[in-house]
Amino acid sequence: MDLTPQRQESASRFRRFADEHVRAHSAAWDAAGRMDTKLVAVLAQEGLLAPVIAREHGGAAMDDLDYGLLCRELSAACSSTRSLVTVQGMVAHAIQRWGTPEQHARWLPGLASGDAVAGFCLTEEQTGSDAASVQTTVHFDGAGARLTGRKLWTTFGQIADLFLVIGTSERGPTAVVVPKDAPGLRTEPVQPMLGLRAAMLATVVLDDCEVPADNVLGKPGFGFSHVASTVLDHGRHSIAWGCAGIARDCLESSAAHASTREQFGFPISEHQLVRRLVSRMVVGVASAEALCEKAAAARMRRDPDAILETMSAKYLASRVAWKAASDAVQVHGAAGCTPESSVQRHLRDARIMRIIEGTDQMLELTICDLAFRRAAP
Ligand SMILES: Cc1cc2nc3c(=O)[nH]c(=O)nc-3n(C[C@H](O)[C@H](O)[C@H](O)COP(=O)(O)OP(=O)(O)OC[C@H]3O[C@@H](n4cnc5c(N)ncnc54)[C@H](O)[C@@H]3O)c2cc1C
Repeated sequence: MDLTPQRQESASRFRRFADEHVRAHSAAWDAAGRMDTKLVAVLAQEGLLAPVIAREHGGAAMDDLDYGLLCRELSAACSSTRSLVTVQGMVAHAIQRWGTPEQHARWLPGLASGDAVAGFCLTEEQTGSDAASVQTTVHFDGAGARLTGRKLWTTFGQIADLFLVIGTSERGPTAVVVPKDAPGLRTEPVQPMLGLRAAMLATVVLDDCEVPADNVLGKPGFGFSHVASTVLDHGRHSIAWGCAGIARDCLESSAAHASTREQFGFPISEHQLVRRLVSRMVVGVASAEALCEKAAAARMRRDPDAILETMSAKYLASRVAWKAASDAVQVHGAAGCTPESSVQRHLRDARIMRIIEGTDQMLELTICDLAFRRAAP
């Protein structure tokens, strides 16, 4: 990747942070199915918890390329940590984009300082890829909004203080910010899943949960077309870079292991079939980083194609990460299958990346739609 010296310095700073505060713990957090939540404050102190927030609200006003580099470095060490920063950024970005000045002042400083951890609640029992069909209801009742529904797989739902919930009101899809202590809200922890095991997922149950009507973000009716789509686009960009980080870490581990592990009297790096696996990782990392960089550039110049570039980057990078992690396990042999091995954790995490923020199939359909639209006379 052809970065300016300033960008290289940012990437080095993020890598130092990940090496110092995250990497040594990622296997233990994965095994325990939870992370040490003190990391929230450590990230916030460094301005890395929700760095996209504007300076006037306590954030770092980080641009898309630096944010991508941060996500790459965090994911190389621990995808669950990257997902904490991703979700915090998704919710903060939506509030910043669609909130009123009063809502900015109410929620953004806490998200930047780590006083509030965010959760994003879209998925339901009957609503996965068809995300616009949410059934959680939002009833306006005087000065209040009442929500009823059950939201599945909420990343960091076990520790979140603030949930951005997408429901449906009589005016259509509606986004509402719901604090965890709102009457009628409860969370049920979800057992750690295949990957992102330390991401402390929860089911969020809204049982006639009441919040002030001015917790609605954006206009009622715009909850999916505007708010949720902004959130998911931000998440896809973060995940794309995270996948580039997974792939690079798999490459580095594989190159190191292949250089020291000897079989048949030679380091396995001398064996041509192992060299092929590593070569493919080199090309995969380069291609994923190139598309991520292209997406970041499109986002920064507010190119109308930025959504397409971001989807393409996420689609490619998540597949590259999965292939690199699978081949990295192969290069490591049994040593890559132990609980402490980073490559088996990357393999499980990479699998999740092909499902969240748009499955492979949904991206294949949407990328094609956007491309046809671009090509239309
Ligand atoms: C670790 C983890 C964390 C998550 N965190 C969150 C979170 O914080 N907040 C949240 O709201 N959700 C979260 N999710 C849920 C995630 O967003 C959904 O899993 C995702 O949107 C896919 O929905 P689904 O699992 O219901 O799959 P489904 O939509 O049921 O899809 C199943 C399969 O059918 C395919 N399919 C569906 N429709 C079509 C179609 N039209 N054409 C072709 N193929 C199709 C899909 O590609 C997929 O292969 C999380 C999930 C995981 C695993």
